[in-house]
Amino acid sequence: YAEIALILGDQLNASHSWYHQKSKRRLFVMFEMRQETDYCRHHIQKVVGFFAAMRNFASALAKAGHNVLYLTLDHSDNKQSLTDNLAAVAKHCNSKEILLQQPDEYRLDKQFDEWQAPDSCSLTWHDSEHFLTERNVLNQWFGDKDNYLMEHFYRRVRKQTGYLMEDGKPVGGKWNYDKENRKSLKASAELPEPLLFAHDVSALVELLEQEGVDTFGHIDPNNFIWPVQRSEAKQLLSYFTEHLLSRFGDYQDAMLEGHWALYHARISFALNTKMLSPKQVVEAALSAWQANPDDISLNQIEGFIRQIIGWREFVRAIYWHFMPAYADSNFLEHERPLPDFYWTGKTQMNCLQHSITQSLDYAYAHHIQRLMVTGNFALLAGCAPDAVDAWYLGVYIDAIEWVELPNTRAMSQFADGGKLATKPYVSSGSYINKMSNYCKSCHYDVQTKVGDGACPFNLLYWHFIDRHQQRFANNSRMALILSQWRKRDESEKKEIREQAESFLANLGNSPQQD
Ligand code: FAD
Ligand code: SF4
Repeated sequence: YAEIALILGDQLNASHSWYHQKSKRRLFVMFEMRQETDYCRHHIQKVVGFFAAMRNFASALAKAGHNVLYLTLDHSDNKQSLTDNLAAVAKHCNSKEILLQQPDEYRLDKQFDEWQAPDSCSLTWHDSEHFLTERNVLNQWFGDKDNYLMEHFYRRVRKQTGYLMEDGKPVGGKWNYDKENRKSLKASAELPEPLLFAHDVSALVELLEQEGVDTFGHIDPNNFIWPVQRSEAKQLLSYFTEHLLSRFGDYQDAMLEGHWALYHARISFALNTKMLSPKQVVEAALSAWQANPDDISLNQIEGFIRQIIGWREFVRAIYWHFMPAYADSNFLEHERPLPDFYWTGKTQMNCLQHSITQSLDYAYAHHIQRLMVTGNFALLAGCAPDAVDAWYLGVYIDAIEWVELPNTRAMSQFADGGKLATKPYVSSGSYINKMSNYCKSCHYDVQTKVGDGACPFNLLYWHFIDRHQQRFANNSRMALILSQWRKRDESEKKEIREQAESFLANLGNSPQQD
């Protein structure tokens, strides 16, 4: 084969122009590798999901008449490294050219940069044809700055794409309906069941065991619930637009015991592996809204479109703008290991117990659970951003560094000092109580601020404010809260400090237990 074309596990874009024509000169290559299973400790469903989707993609390509080489994890020719595998295949095939799609992760970019390709081979880069904006879009649009606002970026994407625009103005007259999207759900609410698949992935689970891949989390090998081919990804999207979109915006921030998916789309794995494209997702949602404007109100559709063309594209742009230094940022100088209950779910804090247990069971939690429960707690407790990042990168089926890192380190842990968010996302127990029913059956009392049975979020919230007073002294968005703390009685402050410190001292911080 004169040409070798590499397809990474998150490049399963069947509409890519590479596949428009068949060529006898071109061999498509895909590799399951220890390099990928081991760069962080992943949830077992994440590894299985990627490998299953890759296998289906390779068979679909071969069925369509393309030449495909797929190396399974245990294949005797597999060198377990991307560049070593590429070099070996290129040499074996006597190829002249290696075609690559631009990767989304910095570590892969670096690996290719440092790679000495075989002498006889040239490398040709192609776009992955997935995103709506380019990697360096922040610089293109706003110049080199220390911080960027998602809202400015989002409006620019709206104007550029024309989505939810009418005569150059936002449909309905407003850009953003977020204020309408903060409703909580009653425990008695009748919710649609999530659409789940039931794949038999036992062979893959056995392979991982046999090869000694170290994973965590739970899996039912006979009922793997995530989409692993394009047709299933499309089914999930249709299910969302038909059954969930009409309530998506309203209950975007809600949390409810016993319901792990609510009105969320659960398409992030399909999107991040590129089985779905953002354009396809946005257009499917817009069509559903246009067909049913009485059922799907403007705040629902705008709330959803903003996630896809706003947040998703924005965090990617932030990632590429600030990497590699971003990955080491630790503005608040937090050093504590993550408590061991992040790997077991065993804690008396009901909100954390539910959010973590469902993450271990399904490799999924929705945004507010990630941000305001697990992320909020890690930030308030002063956990090291490296440890927090490693957990988020491992635990979620949709976690790829370009999207995980800005969300975790920046949005959730404020480790970048405000490049992405203007103030830290921290709250006491009252926010969790407002948005969920977790507090009702908790061991702790959300109304108690200090003393016996006080909700740890209440104690840690003020402890956090107290610890970081100096750092936030010039942040106008923190001024009110700082002045509230300063006005408090000294004896009350002392009591909160002491109780918070004693709670933290007894957290149990042994890393990565099963
Ligand atoms: P829905 O709530 O239905 O939203 C629809 C889609 O919008 C998502 O599929 C996603 O593609 C996009 N989206 C929404 N919010 C964001 C966001 N903040 N950043 C990027 N895309 C967004 N998302 C990932 O895809 N991978 C991650 O590793 C990841 N890590 C996160 C870590 C933390 C600490 C936080 C706070 C958020 C993280 N997110 C991540 C963003 C968001 O939580 C998930 O995209 C979402 O929960 C996926 O579920 P869904 O498909 O049901 O989303
Ligand atoms: Fe979480 Fe506090 Fe509510 Fe318990 S009382 S569920 S710890 S917020």
